[in-house]
Formats: sequence, structure tokens, C-alpha cells
Amino acid sequence: MHSYQNYINGTFTAPSSGKTFDTVNPYTGEVWASIAHSDASDVDSAVDAARNAFDSGWAEMKPTERGRLLYKLADLIERDATHLAEIEVRDNGKLIAEMSAQTHYMPQWYRYYGGLADKVEGAVIPTDKDGIFNFTRYEPLGVIGMITAWNSPLLLMTWKLAVALAAGNTAIVKPSEFTSASTLEFMNLIEEAGFPPGVVNTVTGFGKDAGAALVAHPGVAKIAFTGSDLSGQKIYESAAKTFKHVTLELGGKSPNIVFEDADLESAVMGAISGIFAATGQTCIAGSRLLLQRSIHDQFVERLIEVAKTAHIGDPMSPDTHVGPVTTPPQYQKIMDYIDIARQDGAKCVLGGKAYTGPEAKGGQFVEPTIFTGVDNKMRIAQEEVFGPLLSVIPFDTEEEAISIGNDVDFGLAAGVWTKDIGRAIRMSEKLRVGTVWVNTYRAVSFTSPFGGYKRSGIGRESGLEAIKGYMQVKSVWIAQQSNPANPFVMR
Ligand code: NAD
Repeated sequence: MHSYQNYINGTFTAPSSGKTFDTVNPYTGEVWASIAHSDASDVDSAVDAARNAFDSGWAEMKPTERGRLLYKLADLIERDATHLAEIEVRDNGKLIAEMSAQTHYMPQWYRYYGGLADKVEGAVIPTDKDGIFNFTRYEPLGVIGMITAWNSPLLLMTWKLAVALAAGNTAIVKPSEFTSASTLEFMNLIEEAGFPPGVVNTVTGFGKDAGAALVAHPGVAKIAFTGSDLSGQKIYESAAKTFKHVTLELGGKSPNIVFEDADLESAVMGAISGIFAATGQTCIAGSRLLLQRSIHDQFVERLIEVAKTAHIGDPMSPDTHVGPVTTPPQYQKIMDYIDIARQDGAKCVLGGKAYTGPEAKGGQFVEPTIFTGVDNKMRIAQEEVFGPLLSVIPFDTEEEAISIGNDVDFGLAAGVWTKDIGRAIRMSEKLRVGTVWVNTYRAVSFTSPFGGYKRSGIGRESGLEAIKGYMQVKSVWIAQQSNPANPFVMR
């Protein structure tokens, strides 16, 4: 049994209350570690440490030096990527293939932003004022609170941490109460890389205490959050009281839209990857499959055929395609939505029940489930389920596909399957989402901005633009000669 403590000011520290809570392996159902149950006083200590580190040199460190530390960290992650992936799987039950791909890819964010650290340039502004020189400089915000969801703890942290540190900020990470262990293991690498104490801290605990205290703390300049829209809304309201910057990466109800002219076999694989990969526990799940009516029946038939080959079982096995649901509340939520879909008149053509076969061990599994005859007004089409539940919705025309695709509160992503380049461009313009994939699905990169429209969030992570979200711009005016001017008139 492991015991994980907070990481504050470069030291692993017990929470002030002395309390802990258990973390459970979703596949075996076994408690495998204890986690610090932190409260507002632990958050206070972490903010003090992060603020001191910011004021005592980190923000002034040459950006090139900060970049070198990020490169060093990238090398250490690469060395330990398999170990980190195994901890992720033990805590969130997602497939080792998926988590290992994530941890092996993570160093790229640290290298990309390490390289960008000394390239954020202000400008000399050609103003209309005689005799005054004006330029801009970009400065870090201060202490950043990072709050992450359970589905990909280290990757979601990385999308925030790499860019925040490159920009000269210090950080406090509050991982999900369901999956805190990997973030605390990661703190060993922060130490080994040689980051000064207090630059990166981790406080574990529940959203309502440790998380809420971090959001409310006046010493925190920005909250970078990944989680549900409802938590995001609460965080946004609380952060407003102290005028914090926010990035909110929230949920989705993404349409995966297949036209009759598409390469149908590729589209079937894209539909499967959109909903059954990661057991549907991904914000970018293509949970609404929009099929042009002329191909509807043949497509569904092939979809079922391929989905039936998915091997359910041990997430640590490289042969497994669908793993357990991560948490008991999440399992209950998925089962409830299966009932709701049936009550609303959708037709279950695959799955629709728990998997309790020999591979289930102590885990809670839901069979890959497909509903046809779904109307976009049904709850199963409007609300995020976050599980392996696919809603199939027919359409006739391109205009109808756009209208159904956009007719949800969310706007995270969309897939479009067509061989018509003109249609691909029109669809990418009309869909009100942060990411559009054409003839592919679930591609993400450190080079490309990611984030949501509408209820899917505010701000972008990854890519060049993200770094300005962790900085503020200052405009500096310098008179070139002394020139006593009328003080009662604006210059
Ligand atoms: P959640 O909102 O329940 O919790 C996320 C985090 O917020 C946890 O660390 C939790 O402790 C904390 N939290 C909860 N309430 C809080 C509060 N009032 N104040 C401060 N912190 C609080 O979400 P979850 O169930 O962990 O994750 C699933 C959700 O995350 C889904 O909606 C999914 O779509 C979303 N998600 C979005 C992205 C994205 O990039 N857009 C990526 C992954 C997951």
C-alpha cells in the first residue's frame, strides 16, 4: 500500500488535518494507495510557497534557463513514461495502450514550450504621439491553480504546466480525487529536474474543499481547469470574485458526421474510435453519430460487426479494447442514461447492459452500446454521458447535418467524413466547435490549439497562442525629451 502526500515547497508534506482517503484500482476494485485529504490551510501553504518562488527569482529567471529546465523535465518523463502510464492505469482503468501513448507523447509539450519560452516578444508600437517611445512587454501572471479531471490526469496537467512554467508562472496542481497518484509521482521528476522549491506544488483532495479553496484564494492569478461544465460554471463564478483569469476545458457532445460519399470503412473505424476508445471516457468522444439516410442501415450493420470484436477486459493487457468504467458514480450515470434512452424511445441495437463476464474481475464494465432511432432532442443526444454509449441520428442534407450538429449546448469537436473537398471546407466553417476533424478523429498535438465553443469552455490549450493566456501585456511609454505639458489635457 502506497501513501502519497502533498508536494509543497519542494517537500512531500502530510496534510494539516492528518487525514487521508483511499484510491482504488477500477479494474480489481482494490484500494492500492492513500492520498492526502487537504483543506484550505494546505492550499494556503502551497500558495505561499508558489508566491515566494515567483517573487524570489523564478519570474526573473532568463527564459532560456527556464526552457532548459523544461527540456530536462522532458527527458525525465521520457525515461519514466512507462512507469507513469502504469500508475495512470492502476488509478483510472484506461487502457495501457492509450495511457502509454499519452505519457510517451507528453515530453513534446515540455520541449515545445521550453523552446518557446525565450521567443515571446513584445513590439515597438508606431504610435501617433510625437516624442514618446512606446513598446510592449509580456509578463507572467503569477501563481496558477491547475485543476484536472480523472480521465487523463498527467496529459491534462501537462497542457497547463508546460506552458505556464515557460511563461514564468509558478503552479499548484489539484488533481482529481479519483486519480491523484500519478501527479504526485510526477513531482519526483520536478525535483530531479532541478526546479527551485515552490515553483511546482501539488495539493490533493476533493473539489468542494481543496479545489474550491484554490479557486477562491486571492493569491492565485489564474485557474486552468479541465472537468465538467457544471464544475466549470461554479469555478467561473467563484473566480470572478477575485478577478482571476480562467481557462475552462469542459465537456462535449460531439457530432461525428458521415456523408454517403465517404470512404465508409474508414468512417466506421472513425466512429468506433470516437466512442469506444477510452471506454467513451473522453471529452472529445464522438457520441452523436450522424449518418446520411442513404447509407444508414449498411453503416450501422458494419459498425455493430466491428464493435462486437472489441475485447473487454484487463486494461493492462495490450489486447484489451474496452476497459472498466473509472468510478462507481460514473458507472451509475452510464447505466441511468441507458434507461433514459430506452424510455425516450431510442432502439438499442448493441450492448445496453453491464458486462459481468469472467474478464470483469472487481471492475464495473459497460458493454459497447449503440442506440439507433435517436432524435437529437432526446437527452441521450443532448447531455454528456462520458461512457461507451453511441447515439445514431439520421439526416438527409448537408444543411440538416449542420443544423443537428450545432443543436447542442456544447461545442468541443466534430468529425466529418466525405470525399468532397468543398463540403469539407463548408462543414469546417459552419460547425460551431473548437476542433473539426475531416476523415480522421481524435488527432491532437502540442502544436495545435485545443478548446471549446459554447458550453465546452473558454480559452485554448496547446499551440503558439496558449502562452499568451498565461501572460499579461504591459504598454510602456517613454518620453524622449523633457517636455512640460498641460497637465489637464490627455497626452
Ligand atoms: P469534475 O468537474 O467532476 O472534476 C474535475 C476536477 O474539478 C476534479 O479535480 C474535482 O475535484 C474538481 N472540482 C469539482 N468541483 C469543484 C469546485 N467546485 N471547485 C474546484 N474544483 C472542483 O469532472 P470529472 O468527472 O473529473 O471529469 C470529467 C469531465 O471532464 C467531463 O465532463 C469531460 O468532458 C471533461 N473533460 C474535458 C476535457 C477538455 O479538454 N475539454 C478533457 C478531459 C475531460
